[in-house]
Amino acid sequence: MSATKAKVAVHKFSSCDGCQLAFLNMGEDLLALFDQVDIIHFAEAGPLNREASVDISFVEGSLSTPEDIHRIKKIREKSRYVTTIGACATAGGLQALRNVAQQDDWIQSVYATPQYISSLDQVMPIHEQIAVDFELRGCPVNTRQITAVLRSLLNGVTPVNEQDKVCMECKRQHEVCAMVARGLPCMGPVTRAGCGALCPGVGRDCYGCYGSAENANTASLGGRFHLLRLNQNQVRHRFVSFNGADPVFASAGSMGTGKND
Ligand code: SF4
Ligand code: SF4
Ligand code: SF4
Repeated sequence: MSATKAKVAVHKFSSCDGCQLAFLNMGEDLLALFDQVDIIHFAEAGPLNREASVDISFVEGSLSTPEDIHRIKKIREKSRYVTTIGACATAGGLQALRNVAQQDDWIQSVYATPQYISSLDQVMPIHEQIAVDFELRGCPVNTRQITAVLRSLLNGVTPVNEQDKVCMECKRQHEVCAMVARGLPCMGPVTRAGCGALCPGVGRDCYGCYGSAENANTASLGGRFHLLRLNQNQVRHRFVSFNGADPVFASAGSMGTGKND
């Protein structure tokens, strides 16, 4: 990247804003960041210039409306690198739960004047409409992920793409296995690493917020959940939650069930 300060934008689509907080939570590191980059657009923090050409665009949220498709294509045209941040942007997020239900029923039940609602039939992650250079997973992403990808891009280095499963991080940290020791239905064996096994580290089972790992054996884990006495619907809910449009989890969640079970 050039010797001048890199221009950075942070854009939001359908989301809760939680991933943008990973920037605001940087504390003193955020001040150091300003020495290296110019934040051109970041509505939650103040700067507004969403049409500007930039070096790096961070994109939070999933695509839910026809207007979103138009806007994300503009962002792609104006950005040298596009990095998506969080489960919403990389795998649809919680709002993609409507992909496995009857959308019209939801709209009728939620909105007083449903005739004014204009939405896509399916909630989509960003990579379904544009080429994405890098994806940061998690609900939410954390400050460490953001600073690591920024440092890499600013130094012309390809960011590290986590391939391991959460179980690997968990074992490296010598955590006691929540599934083996306590019978909790942990998603760690099929979930992508990157969080540092946060939940097992505090005695909880993983809920899969980083989305599916490569070569995830969801059939085997689903069978294990049945042995832990989860019924079919409970197994389905384990897989289809934070990452509603993750094809691996969506497929595992729909096994043996009808769309509206
Ligand atoms: S991934 Fe989670 S924290 Fe981030 S915007 Fe979506 S719902 Fe919010
Ligand atoms: S607690 Fe979960 S993530 Fe950790 S080893 Fe057991 S199954 Fe894997
Ligand atoms: S352990 Fe699982 S649910 Fe918890 S933060 Fe990590 S990926 Fe998300």
